[in-house]
Amino acid sequence: MSMDTPGSQSSLHRANLERVLRAVRMAGSLTQAEIARSTGLSAATVSNIVRELKEGGTVVVADTSSGGRRARSVSLSGDAGIVVGIDFGHSHLRVAVGNLAHRVLAEESEPMNVDVSAEQGFARAEALVERLLAQAGFRPDKVIGVGLGVPGPIDVETGALGSTAILPGWTGIAPGRELSTRLGMPVHVDNDANLGALGELVWGAGRGLTDLAYIKVASGVGSGLVINGQIYRGPGGTAGEIGHITLDESGPVCRCGNRGCLETFVGAEYLLNLLNASHQRELTLSEVVRLAQQGDLGCRRVLADAGRQIGTGVATLCNLLNPRRVILGGDLADAGELVLSPIRDSVARYAIPSAARQLSVVPGTLGGRAEVLGALALVMSEMGETGAIGHVTPTAGTRS
Ligand SMILES: [Zn+2]
Repeated sequence: MSMDTPGSQSSLHRANLERVLRAVRMAGSLTQAEIARSTGLSAATVSNIVRELKEGGTVVVADTSSGGRRARSVSLSGDAGIVVGIDFGHSHLRVAVGNLAHRVLAEESEPMNVDVSAEQGFARAEALVERLLAQAGFRPDKVIGVGLGVPGPIDVETGALGSTAILPGWTGIAPGRELSTRLGMPVHVDNDANLGALGELVWGAGRGLTDLAYIKVASGVGSGLVINGQIYRGPGGTAGEIGHITLDESGPVCRCGNRGCLETFVGAEYLLNLLNASHQRELTLSEVVRLAQQGDLGCRRVLADAGRQIGTGVATLCNLLNPRRVILGGDLADAGELVLSPIRDSVARYAIPSAARQLSVVPGTLGGRAEVLGALALVMSEMGETGAIGHVTPTAGTRS
């Protein structure tokens, strides 16, 4: 009988070890009491596991105080491995290099044309990753994994990018496989809304929560759903397509083929078209936000109407999933209360009162960094514990 038969002492121990590691990795740092609470393990078990991980050099333990009492905070060792995040957006490429202790060691963003070919995009990402790793002082073989964000749906079975209005030339390409071959590193791929949700969960406005929705409104509208602390993707990877809730059956035709989807009423193109006649020039979404903040009535009205429409989608989400918090991201989030307050009005009007009462609607705190930080968090959530343990070279627990 193998030592690792399910239910044996050693596989139980390993499972507990993995639960502790995962909790610490996703939170950045936790006290031993917090680890016990979030894993459901006993204080004694946690204490033993933390000692073992510390001796192996996987975690570091520091004195801290929690609620006025002395406590010991546990975080992953900065040497335990390096993670890389890459975010391909509408007009930028952003890359970050971080360690498992949640420190961002290097980060850079450069403009990217939407018409760039996938080939060119990957080449630029590869060059930027190499440069930032060198800047952070780490060799490529220290990288445990790469998280990659793309602005469109990823087919779960083929890994290929579905149709996207944002990078049209990339449809059908499997970006994870391409990039993994180039970099020689494992690559995890997800869409930008899911990564924004993970980013805000681990580093931003969703810290400490287990249930939230991140809604990204930019060229398109998407959402990332966190349920019980994990991204919910659905079997086909398309969960959270809030942008395609039908608002008006006889409305404009949407890129998905239906009519009157939420996205057709709040996507950038629609909003900007509304202002063409009154403003007599082509505005960008960020200009609209700025003008609205300066008091431009037409721009304010457009943002308020968009907020109300988004709010009907949020109300539906709220009735179905009862999230604790909805975090608004993307270009429209910069409008702050001009768009948040109409969202709340719609939620109050259309959602079940008990679900609406528990919900807070807030702007993201990471801005344009949400996706790239989410890409780092994706590696941390997907890497599996063998990665963490396997990469650690025991240092006899000299650091504390
Ligand atoms: Zn649609």
